[in-house]
Amino acid sequence: MIEPYGGKLVDRTASETEVKRFVEEQRDLIRIRPILDQIYDAEKIGLGAYSPLEGFMGSEDYNNVINKSRLSNGLPWTMPIILAPPQSGMLNEIKPSDEVAIEDMHGNPFATLQVEEKFRIDKQEFAVKVYGTTDDAHPNVSDLKHFGDIAVSGKVKLYKRLGLSVARHELTPRETREHFTKMGWNNVAAYQARNPPHLAHEYIQRVTLERDDVDGLFIQPIVGKLKKGDYKPEVIMKAYEVFVERYYPSDKVLLGSLSISMRYAGPKAVLFYAIVRRNYGCSHYIVGRDQAGVGNYYDPYAGHRIFDEFDVGVKPLRYQETFYCKACASMVSSKVCPHPNDQHISTSQTKIRQLLLEGKPLPAEILRPEVSQVLAEGDVILTESQY
Ligand SMILES: [Zn+2]
Repeated sequence: MIEPYGGKLVDRTASETEVKRFVEEQRDLIRIRPILDQIYDAEKIGLGAYSPLEGFMGSEDYNNVINKSRLSNGLPWTMPIILAPPQSGMLNEIKPSDEVAIEDMHGNPFATLQVEEKFRIDKQEFAVKVYGTTDDAHPNVSDLKHFGDIAVSGKVKLYKRLGLSVARHELTPRETREHFTKMGWNNVAAYQARNPPHLAHEYIQRVTLERDDVDGLFIQPIVGKLKKGDYKPEVIMKAYEVFVERYYPSDKVLLGSLSISMRYAGPKAVLFYAIVRRNYGCSHYIVGRDQAGVGNYYDPYAGHRIFDEFDVGVKPLRYQETFYCKACASMVSSKVCPHPNDQHISTSQTKIRQLLLEGKPLPAEILRPEVSQVLAEGDVILTESQY
């Protein structure tokens, strides 16, 4: 199986003795309450999902990442992982070598930070260099206003998992690697998702599983911090669960969720997602058209090309746009279908959500009936963004 990124799976989870001590001593620790994105990041650091990171980035890594898309040690890395709590004032009393408690979304401490450095971030610069725009209509750029101006770095220790609605799907890198070993999968392809499955997703997943060099498929929807109009995490997972159970051989496919915030950074997000999946044990990474895109900020195929620029040890499996073709009478991609657009039925989520909202039936060419049924149960879409 592929090695974790950087060669070693980071494990910053506390031992039982440490947890006991934490429960007794946490009242004496200064607490910080990050925004939701960074709560999720703290947990993922602890579990090794962001190996080789052992904590939140300091100024050197941060500047290398936003300017050169590399960590200070030279490894390619495209997403800053920083802790910049909204109330910077609470950081005044914190100094290097302090231990502080990190609160979860309910205000309960679940991790600690061994403080190394405090540094100022320029949010305009962050927006331009990471997302390529300062446009407030971009969801992640808009989220930057919830970040504080001061970031605090240091190693994270995880004492407790986050209590999430999708908790039973939140496999750790250690657990997925154990599963792949048990199944005898050497090469595993990762499928990134953020929506319930439709037949274009299924087409790409099946074509991937047909490959000689792929032993198994790990489907891992991102279900962390979501924005208004997204499907709820438990809906995405339920739809995938019924789908995988009904349509895939259980010895070829594993389903797990990944609670982190979506980074709509186009190619930079694609590379970051591929690195994270490598830590979960995946050697191959599926990249469709416009993955991690939003609006028209990114070239839809830049996510294919970034793997030519940076080698993160994961083999990208690049797919073009997929849709149902009436003339072919099957799901196809633009690579294999010669027919004009009027023969094609789009599988866009916007269209599916529109039909749902209008109470119209979802076409069988696009969705499996079991998935349609989950979506038709109603109350499936978030009406407010989460912070
Ligand atoms: Zn066709």
